[in-house]
Order: sequence, then structure tokens, then C-alpha cells
Amino acid sequence: MSEAVRTRVPRLIITQDNRFWFDAAREGRLAIQRCTGCGTLRHPPAPACASCRSFSWDSVDSTRRCTLHSYTVLHHPKDDAFDYPLAVGLVDLEEGTRLVADISGVDLDELRTGMELEVGFAEHAHGEILPRLTLPGGDRA
Ligand SMILES: [Zn+2]
Repeated sequence: MSEAVRTRVPRLIITQDNRFWFDAAREGRLAIQRCTGCGTLRHPPAPACASCRSFSWDSVDSTRRCTLHSYTVLHHPKDDAFDYPLAVGLVDLEEGTRLVADISGVDLDELRTGMELEVGFAEHAHGEILPRLTLPGGDRA
């Protein structure tokens, strides 16, 4: 995406707690943080486990398979970095954590909670690589 796009979207804030996640996204992997104390998966990334309070963690790669838990379609306010109407979904990943991302390549009339989707990746306003929800196989075209 060109730097000429005028956007009010804030830039990412990369920290030592979330850098692994954005690095994985640049490689096309959807990482999920895992507590090495109790095995609980968590997203978004956080310094400590909400279940056992351990600060020890590693990460696992998601299959990127998911189902649509809820969604909304945005019409306003418009930002030059997005196409409208803009569908945004909350999905249940196969691993059990949830994720929010734009939905691409699905007719708005076809959106249904419970439908199968897949997490892909796309470049966003400032060149960052972020998740994008598509139909299964949608990013392989
Ligand atoms: Zn834990």
C-alpha cells in the first residue's frame, strides 16, 4: 500500500510482549501465545497468564482455521486505508482463542455466524502485516 494513503489509523506499538506475534505474521504464521506453566493459550499477547499468573510462555502456530463468532459491517466513518462497506469479524480459532480481523472476499449477504473462515494476512495502512479473514482457501487464488 502506498505511503500516499491518508489514514488516521494509528501505527502499531511493538513491545517485547507482542513482537513475536507480528514477526510471525510477516512470515505468514498465526502465532498463539501459550503459557508454559499451565498450557493455557491466550490472545492478544500479554506478559502473564490469567489462569496461573506465570510469566513463562512460548507460542504455537495456529492452523488458521476458524468459525465466525460475530461480525459487524462498518460504513462510517471512512478512512482511506480501507474499502467500504468494511466487514470485521470476531472468530473462534480451532485452537480455542479468538481473533478480530477484517473480512475479505465474502459477499456481505453471505456472512453468517458459525460459517467457516480462514485467517490469511494482508498489508495494512502503514505497511504492517495483519490478519485478514477469508473463505477457506481464499488466499491461495
Ligand atoms: Zn498458565
